[in-house]
Amino acid sequence: MSVFDALVGQDRVIEQLRGAIESARVTIEGGEATGMTHAWLFTGPPGSGRSVAARAFGAALQCPDGGCGACHECHTALTGSHVDVEIVTPSGLSYSVAETRALVSRAALAPVRGTWQVTIVEDADRFTEQALNALLKALEEPPPRGVWLLCAPSADDLLPTIRSRCRVVTLRVPPYEAVAAYLASEGIDPVTARLVAHAAQGHIGRARRLAVDHDAATHRREVLTVPTHVASVGGCFAAAAALVDAAKAEAAAVSESLDAEEKSALRESYGDTGERGMPRPRGVAGAISELEKRQRSRATRTQRDVLDRALVDLAAFYRDVLVVQLGATVDLVNPDFEPTLRDLAAESDPEATLRRIEAVLAARAAIDANVAPLLAVEAMAVALRAP
Ligand SMILES: [Zn+2]
Repeated sequence: MSVFDALVGQDRVIEQLRGAIESARVTIEGGEATGMTHAWLFTGPPGSGRSVAARAFGAALQCPDGGCGACHECHTALTGSHVDVEIVTPSGLSYSVAETRALVSRAALAPVRGTWQVTIVEDADRFTEQALNALLKALEEPPPRGVWLLCAPSADDLLPTIRSRCRVVTLRVPPYEAVAAYLASEGIDPVTARLVAHAAQGHIGRARRLAVDHDAATHRREVLTVPTHVASVGGCFAAAAALVDAAKAEAAAVSESLDAEEKSALRESYGDTGERGMPRPRGVAGAISELEKRQRSRATRTQRDVLDRALVDLAAFYRDVLVVQLGATVDLVNPDFEPTLRDLAAESDPEATLRRIEAVLAARAAIDANVAPLLAVEAMAVALRAP
């Protein structure tokens, strides 16, 4: 057993981190070692396990056995309750300057249990510019036992000044077999595990959701019927509307419960009971309207993320059609759709399929550039139609 057990298909990263843990031990004992440093940047595509890797590393730095996965230090560090390991996520859409300054001063404290003061920052690509300056100062003058573990999709998401002070750990998309084996070890039946590992293209969290969440699996199947519904122009517009509506509904389900929780926590912090006839505490109305503004922008972001994932699924579907058309001997992403894939492959040619993949990718780019989602998806659906 080890803290790295949950890090799937990342052997090189584990090797790199083990080297650092050994150097950290030497440093603590007063020796000379170069493998350890004060700032690390964990990068990798969504679902590759950036935050899993950072937590495991944080735990291993506290563990007397370098990350046994079983002791009190490992356990509390992994679950976020270790006194010397702080795990932070942005409370709104980004880290504010006040939040960051508070974080920086906590990170400067000496560790309580004697080894390292570890600060794990999820979504490190979401600091405001002023907040980044506060962080930069902390990275420039690190306390002797302070360690920052920043997580971001890629190194390019951070300013060069921050990036250049971090040692980069690059995670890859884990191999499908490794994801399937891991899910099977969690009790998911091996046939399903294999199928969802492919369908999620190696994204472990998404694969698990497809295996256990009925709605997520249904949504994926609906997305993959789009190619068979774009024969007529009417069908194109209907398919586009259905895609965007499904994304809205899924995003709404995610944010509704979160929004209500945040609002009641905010009211509580102001001592606002919400009782009729009682005067509202000073400042609560302004704080709530500020929170609602942040929640609205988060809802928009979630909806775009859900839609983007649907488009990634769709692009993978046409990729499978191309695989069949070219007779390539590689695995299909969507083996459960093989009959439909073969029909479509027979009806068109590789050139048409490539054009369709481009149409899907163009819609992703347009949405990323803030084109109204429905407009972008409609344009895509019409382009998917047979010439
Ligand atoms: Zn341990």
